[in-house]
Amino acid sequence: MAKEDLECSFCGRKKPETNLLIAGLDAHICDRCIEQAHGIVAEESKDTATNDLEGELQLKTPHEIKAFLDQYVIGQEFTKKVMSVAVYNHYKRLLQPASDDDIEIQKSNIVMVGQTGTGKTLIAKTVARMLNVPLAIVDATVLTEAGYVGEDVESILTRLLQAADYNLEKAQRGIVFIDEIDKIARKSDNPSITRDVSGEGVQQALLKLLEGTTVNVPPKGGRKHPDQKFIEVNTEHILFIAGGAFDGIERHISKRLNMQAMGFVASKSDEAVEKDNLLKYIIPKDLKDFGLIPEIIGRLPVLTHMNPLDSGTLRAILTEPKNAIIKQYIKLFDMDGVAFSITDDALDYLVDKAIEYKLGARGLRSLCEAILTDAMFDMPSSDEKELQVTKSYAEAKLNKSTLKKLKAAS
Ligand code: ADP
Repeated sequence: MAKEDLECSFCGRKKPETNLLIAGLDAHICDRCIEQAHGIVAEESKDTATNDLEGELQLKTPHEIKAFLDQYVIGQEFTKKVMSVAVYNHYKRLLQPASDDDIEIQKSNIVMVGQTGTGKTLIAKTVARMLNVPLAIVDATVLTEAGYVGEDVESILTRLLQAADYNLEKAQRGIVFIDEIDKIARKSDNPSITRDVSGEGVQQALLKLLEGTTVNVPPKGGRKHPDQKFIEVNTEHILFIAGGAFDGIERHISKRLNMQAMGFVASKSDEAVEKDNLLKYIIPKDLKDFGLIPEIIGRLPVLTHMNPLDSGTLRAILTEPKNAIIKQYIKLFDMDGVAFSITDDALDYLVDKAIEYKLGARGLRSLCEAILTDAMFDMPSSDEKELQVTKSYAEAKLNKSTLKKLKAAS
């Protein structure tokens, strides 16, 4: 066949009509068809990438997210709702198609304020479990400014990489829970410290991470070392959740509320202020008065609070969540063929002791252990196939010295 008779097997153009005609085994393709095909491939792979992301992320509506949280977290209705919306928006942001309308959805990093043991970590864990994304839990108290003894803020990302089995893609869509964020508050009342190693400096270092940046992360942790290989991690799609007890922040809240009451906003609040749960009224300004720098507060735009656990909540925590403590013991004993049960008054007794010794929800577990250790030790080698824990049984096991130990540990 003459050269000029060759044609594109896709569009039929003759060779002279094309800029380029590439020959295959027994077909030809022209430059235009190559370009078109390339466009199709790019479009397809973009679609599958988004679908993969959607599939893996298991994006749920706020109602679904809240319903999932309800299975594991008792009470804390307000936080669960706020959290559901924030998480939903975060992942919507992540899945948004590239658009040219200049509207960029910003990150919805979250800060939870509430006493220790009220479920902050539990909520973060549950959200990560639901979304099927890796979670790193880090303690802000160990972080220091680069160059000081302690961990650099990059170590947070090392943890996340580890949680994601070094899958960078997964890590970059994970969740970081920074516990005890209140411990890096500025300590302005201590002017003798020339450099605030563990306070403001760390807040400054955290800023970039929270906002979204690319960081060189030593994959195995430790100090940056000139000849260590780094992994580049982009934090733009990582959701940061910070938690802290912010001991004493109530002072700032009540001061502010009193000032408002004296000011010209009287029309607003005829409703009585709930004095024993002032956290309910927290606003970002209170975090600033506590010692967080405004830039950090700005990058943690979703602020929520945890309610203290009352006896009703503690009682429910023992039996209601999907993996409630009592359900776990039933399963443990069942594996030895033992039918385990606990009476209502024994449960009430446990709750009373947890409150009396200010052990909170975490203490419920230690109390159960103290009561059940003897049984768990003896029953696997005995013929007894039933254990019913009554109030008097629990009382007998929780002898004075054990309680003292628990109290000391709290
Ligand atoms: P925090 O992070 O606020 O200090 P955690 O989330 O670590 O508290 O809570 C400690 C334990 O107490 C959890 O593992 C969980 O078993 C229990 N717990 C605390 N609050 C709740 C809650 N609202 N619902 C169910 N369990 C809770």
